[in-house]
Amino acid sequence: MPENKFYDYLIVGQGLAGSLLAWRLINHGKSVLVLDDGHASASSMVAAGVINPLAGKRFNHAPQIHDWLEYVETTYTQLAQQAKEPFLQWVDMLRLFHTPEQQRFYARLPGQEAIGNLLGGSFPPNQPPQPVQAPLGGFTQHRTGFVRLPALLHFLARWLREHQALHITTVNHEALEISTERVCYGGFQAGGVVFCDGYRSMHSPWFGYLPFAPDQGEILTLAQKPGIDAGQLPDKIINGAQWLLPIDNGMFRLGSTHNHNIQNHQPAREGTEKLLQGMSALLNSPQLLQLVRSEAGVRPATSDRQPFLGTHPSQPRAHIFNGFGAHGSLMIPWYSEQMCRWLIDHQPLPETADIARHGNEVA
Ligand SMILES: Cc1cc2nc3c(=O)[nH]c(=O)nc-3n(C[C@H](O)[C@H](O)[C@H](O)COP(=O)(O)OP(=O)(O)OC[C@H]3O[C@@H](n4cnc5c(N)ncnc54)[C@H](O)[C@@H]3O)c2cc1C
Repeated sequence: MPENKFYDYLIVGQGLAGSLLAWRLINHGKSVLVLDDGHASASSMVAAGVINPLAGKRFNHAPQIHDWLEYVETTYTQLAQQAKEPFLQWVDMLRLFHTPEQQRFYARLPGQEAIGNLLGGSFPPNQPPQPVQAPLGGFTQHRTGFVRLPALLHFLARWLREHQALHITTVNHEALEISTERVCYGGFQAGGVVFCDGYRSMHSPWFGYLPFAPDQGEILTLAQKPGIDAGQLPDKIINGAQWLLPIDNGMFRLGSTHNHNIQNHQPAREGTEKLLQGMSALLNSPQLLQLVRSEAGVRPATSDRQPFLGTHPSQPRAHIFNGFGAHGSLMIPWYSEQMCRWLIDHQPLPETADIARHGNEVA
């Protein structure tokens, strides 16, 4: 990597946020160097990549949902064409009510014009169109699916290397100098630095003042036992008290737990047991799946559940693109475009995401 080159931006982190931001900036003609520690704490490498525009137990949607979905389609499709391998897979989702309250939340939905195309029909208790247990009934959702995140990040790492734009290192904050003229790190110089370092930004001297709410989660990978009839297991995403995602070749992901009190990447036996118990309440034939592996990661979540985009209040060369919580696959394609416009053209950021909402507190 040429050390005497002056980059437009250093980006810390090659998770989904840093990767898509770097890809867009390079496509806009900017010179970028991504510094990543080999995905040591990448929640993007653990995530199932599920896209669900009506997430949450009340089935609420964000006002920008159609913009987000349009960018999901165009961004991952363009990347798939470049890579000649598919990353995005649309799959309908069966939403199973797990409290009577949810039946009332659902009753409000069909009248809402903005989300009409996201809803399939409902089904009565115990009559789901998939081999699952649905004692309270549920409904079908469209425009749901998943992104094959590890394959996408491996492709983008290769693409960045081809552009001499990826360097594997652990960034030590104390060795990163940000002055009024430039940013320097280990011989690399740049006009600015963008932190896309996931939940570890909460320990940053520049952005540690932001209200991060890291959310550790466990997730399982399961395989269908050999020789069984595939019709005995779902081929749609099943979302009840927890969710089951059919991926390729008889493999499934089952998720996920939430824990705001720990920040490690070690799956614990209790988490695995909790998920397997939940699966028994979800499927008609849970014994047809066997555990392949358990994984854990930390979601870079925020206290107001909105992302962190913007520039440090007193250090104009330090920027952040982070805080995508449990919904990075859905949100990062659109927000990475907004962040590019902010960095390159100073176009205003969406107010709900701009870190200016948290004032000028400096750590
Ligand atoms: C169990 C689980 C399930 C999930 N399921 C889904 C899902 O189904 N759908 C969905 O959309 N989202 C899901 N998520 C959330 C998703 O992972 C995030 O929204 C998204 O991937 C965050 O991407 P990021 O790039 O901001 O952070 P990360 O992916 O965490 O990337 C940060 C990168 O920076 C690197 N880094 C950090 N500090 C340094 C440093 N000092 N020096 C060098 N490198 C550094 C890290 O190693 C990592 O590579 C899930 C998360 C978990 C944990």
